[in-house]
Formats: sequence, C-alpha cells, structure tokens
Amino acid sequence: MTAAAESRSTGDFPLDREHAVTLDSTDPLAPLRARFLTHRAEDDRPRPIYLDGNSLGRPTAGTVSRLAHVAEQEWGQGLVRSWSHWIDLGARVGDLIGEHLLGAAAGQVVISDSTTVNLYKLAAAAIDARPGRRVIVTDDDNFPTDRYVLEGLAARHDLELRLLPTDIDAGLGLDALRAAVGPDTALVCLSHVAYRSGALLDMGAVNRIVHDAGALVLWDLCHAAGAVPVELDATAADLAVGCSYKYLNGGPGAPAFLYVRHDLQESLRQPIWGWFGRRDQFAMGQGYDPAPGLGSFLSGTPPILPIAATEEGVRVLAEAGIDRLRAKGALLTSYLIVLADAWLPELRLATPREPARRGSHVTLAHPDAWRITQALIERANVIPDYRTPDRLRLGPAPICTSFVDVWDAMDRLRGILRTRAYEDFPATPTRVT
Ligand SMILES: *Cc1c(COP(=O)(O)O)cnc(C)c1O
Repeated sequence: MTAAAESRSTGDFPLDREHAVTLDSTDPLAPLRARFLTHRAEDDRPRPIYLDGNSLGRPTAGTVSRLAHVAEQEWGQGLVRSWSHWIDLGARVGDLIGEHLLGAAAGQVVISDSTTVNLYKLAAAAIDARPGRRVIVTDDDNFPTDRYVLEGLAARHDLELRLLPTDIDAGLGLDALRAAVGPDTALVCLSHVAYRSGALLDMGAVNRIVHDAGALVLWDLCHAAGAVPVELDATAADLAVGCSYKYLNGGPGAPAFLYVRHDLQESLRQPIWGWFGRRDQFAMGQGYDPAPGLGSFLSGTPPILPIAATEEGVRVLAEAGIDRLRAKGALLTSYLIVLADAWLPELRLATPREPARRGSHVTLAHPDAWRITQALIERANVIPDYRTPDRLRLGPAPICTSFVDVWDAMDRLRGILRTRAYEDFPATPTRVT
C-alpha cells in the first residue's frame, strides 16, 4: 500500500460519494472489473451490488468461453483422447495458484476433491506421521467442516480433539495456542482468515509455535487464498487446503487445492488410496504403490470443467498480483468500516479494526442481522450474507468490487436501518444463509 493509502485507511476518508469515485479513478485494478460477467440490472430495482465474493466468487467472460471451449471442443470433439492433456490439469492449475497466490514453489500444490475431503486426507496423513501423540488442536470457532472432520478423525483414532476457546471477533490468540500445544500434540489445524470475523492469523508465528512442539500444522486457506499474501514456503508451513470457488472464482463446487511441502511428500501417506495416486496408474497393476511426489495425494478422477474454470479465475488474479489485491482489499474494507462508523452506530464492528489483522471481509453485529440481510437483498439489491449468531458479513472481493459499490451498499444499508425496513422480514433463518 502507498503511504497515502495507508494514512487514508486509518480513518480520514471523506464521506461523500465523490470520494468513492476518486478512489476508483486511482485504483490500478479498476480495469479488471470489466473482465467479469455483467451483473445485470433489473428494471425498477437499484443497480445490483455483490458483496459475497468470499462465499461464491463471480465468473469472468473468459471463464464462460473457456467452459464452452472445454465442453464443445475438448469434450465434444476430442472425447476420451482429451485425457492426454486433462490428466495434468489439476497439477498445472495447482502450480499457478502456488506461484501467484500461496508462495509455494512448483510441485507442491494440486487441485483434487473438496476442501473437506482434502482436509481429511491431509489431517489423517499428519496424525499417522506422529505416532504416539494423542492430541489434535484447533479452535472452537474454526469453520464447521474443519471441526467435524477433526472430530471424526479423533473418534476413529481414539485421539483427543482440543478445541481452543476463541474470541469470535478477534480470532485465536497466540498465547492460547502456545499454552495448548506440547509433546502430546500431533496436529494443529487452523484457518488463516477466520470465516466469520475475517481475523487473520500470523502464519509464521503459528508455524514456529507448532514446530517447536514437534507437531505438524495444516492450514485452511479458504478465506485467505486470493485475498491476502500467503507464504507457505517461506514460513515453513507443512500442509494446507483451500477452496477454489471463493476468491479464486472457480465456480460453485469447484474442487479445492491442497499443499504438501516437498520434503513431506515421500513420508506422509494419505488414506484414500485410489488409482490416481498410484505409480503407473494405467498399468492397472496389483496392489497400491504410491506415485512419487504430490501424485500420491490424489485419489480419483478430477472434475475437468471446474478446474478449467478455476484456471481462468486464477489467471485474472495473477494478472492483478496478490500485493495489489491485498492493498485494495485493505483499502476497501477500511473504507467500509469508516462509513459504518459514521453512519451505522447501531451496528458493532465484529472484525479486527487494524487492516493488517484482517482478511478481505468485514462483519457487523446487530441483533436483527438476519432480517437486515434479507432487507438488503430484497429491497436494496445488495448481496451480503448472514452468519450466526447475529452477523452481517460483507465481502468486497478486491478483484471485482469498486469503491462506489461499497459506498452505495453502505448508503442503502443506512436507509434500511433508518426506515427500519428490515422489520418487514421474518426473524427465522432459511435453510441456506
Ligand atoms: C468455505 C469453507 C470450507 C468449505 O469446504 P467444502 O468442502 O468446499 O464445502 C471449508 N473451510 C473453510 C474455512 C471455508 O471457508
């Protein structure tokens, strides 16, 4: 971030819409917004504003034409012969993500399966690599699927799952982590950016604490990849997983990436032994013999269409550069917080105020957050999401959100609170929030 941007992000933004226009005019990433499919306006509704890029990213026009190309040409014409180049697509896109977004040298990141399944595979491998150590550590506010996967593994292997009590706004404290790990710890699994508050953990500091205890660390990067610089190699992280459909814009259900550090690849063994993880897969041989390197962390046939879509999403992020994405994300969220402070005193900031301590989303607490979320969507055409217990989560993805988007969204939110329009909506959450 420039010195000028840094000082602005501490709180002295002018509040008029003109200032948002000025910020957009000096935003080096602004031209990339035009790559994304237009979010069409409907007659008689305000212009749509999407603030949920951290839950499901948006497609670019390039993504749509790539999907059409893969379907029509590679699948429609090439048919089964296309497997000759599809077979390595997950590894190629993994390397692209590693190089541009995760600080990981080639051969350590691959796309396969969902985040949940990859977590299971890597956590199980880590536990097996620390025989005799009986404790898995995570925090009690980690994403539900992470807690459930670890709970299942602990039950299956008769281990203790230690859930560290965590402040759901500020995130896990390093002292609590330090106090919880020791010679009995096999694995520590944490989210780099907390899904609810956006609180950002210091990856290097956590890795040192975990390694000092002789344990392995597994990072969930779902809300970090594409939003904040991640330095897996430089901080000596062991293992990581993360979603492709959030900031990476790979599309609904796009398979996740996993990272296994080079020097662990031969010794760790994941539990789902499938043919994609076997040496000489097409020899169809008897018995499982793990492929060398990262290959042994694969299991079955990868879904090619969403991996191709992920490649398109990641290419645009690579063009932007993670440092510029981070700078813009810090500025967008700081701007949002300044407007919330000025206009929405009834909403409490439930995200760290310091830009360096958060990812790229902001959470605001209000007892009627669910009704406010519905009113924003239905009345104001602004799409955020709701998170328990009383949180409105606003995710202005840096690659495709403008400062005017943030200003307009906050202005409409202010109107909803002033008129209490949210009181027209039911208080009971729907199945999907
Ligand atoms: C979104 C998210 C997941 C989702 O996992 P899936 O297997 O794709 O359903 C996992 N962990 C975190 C931290 C997330 O934010």
